[in-house]
Amino acid sequence: MPVSALSTAVVLFGSPGSGKGTQAKLLTKCLKVPQISTGDMLRERVRTGNSVNAAVHATMQAGSLVSDDLVNCMVEERLAEPDCAAGFIMDGYPRTRDQAQHLCRWCQTHGLREVVIHLVVDYNIIIARLTGRRHCPRCGTLYNLITRHPKVNGVCDLDGEPLVHRDDDRESVIRERLEAYRRQTRPLLEYFREQGRPLFEVDGSQDPPEILFQKICQSIRSA
Ligand code: AMP
Repeated sequence: MPVSALSTAVVLFGSPGSGKGTQAKLLTKCLKVPQISTGDMLRERVRTGNSVNAAVHATMQAGSLVSDDLVNCMVEERLAEPDCAAGFIMDGYPRTRDQAQHLCRWCQTHGLREVVIHLVVDYNIIIARLTGRRHCPRCGTLYNLITRHPKVNGVCDLDGEPLVHRDDDRESVIRERLEAYRRQTRPLLEYFREQGRPLFEVDGSQDPPEILFQKICQSIRSA
């Protein structure tokens, strides 16, 4: 049976480096609904920046969370676009209780049901993954120096663009980001349970992305 996204908000939940971005890209191709990555949206704001965005950049560089007001507003604008009407894949949102309440209200008002997929990955694997992570600034393809090496060192397989190491994927910032996850984001699992949202734990430590993807699809199907 094919997996269907009809009127489903899939929330990919997990710490930085748990594989949300990779899985979101696989899911959007299969479900034909958009990936909403608040990290990508914020990086784009910073790139095209004004003085407000300089403050956002500083917050991101420090590994802290950007304000709920800004992120909620940005997400709400994005969800108002027609391609989100039949569902979407949330990647990196919500990250605080305020954001989770915002999304729950939005889904209720718009008749979407949420399914939460929690990607569980061991702390040391996360650190290794994030320090080795590289991406193509042109097409967004993700690589890893240990697990998913490009064919030619430092260059994207698809378009030959030089690969980039994100500023906040350096070890000192990674630890701050993981701490923000532990303090502000992980407790949302309890919130989703309280709200009776279907929540699936998927072990993302060992399986290659394609196998993990099959497990996630199975969970969405059964929700
Ligand atoms: P990500 O690419 O999802 O790892 O996000 C990179 C950075 O963007 C985070 O470390 C935060 O500084 C910021 N960010 C992304 N999403 C959110 C969010 N939902 N709420 C607050 N800050 C966010």
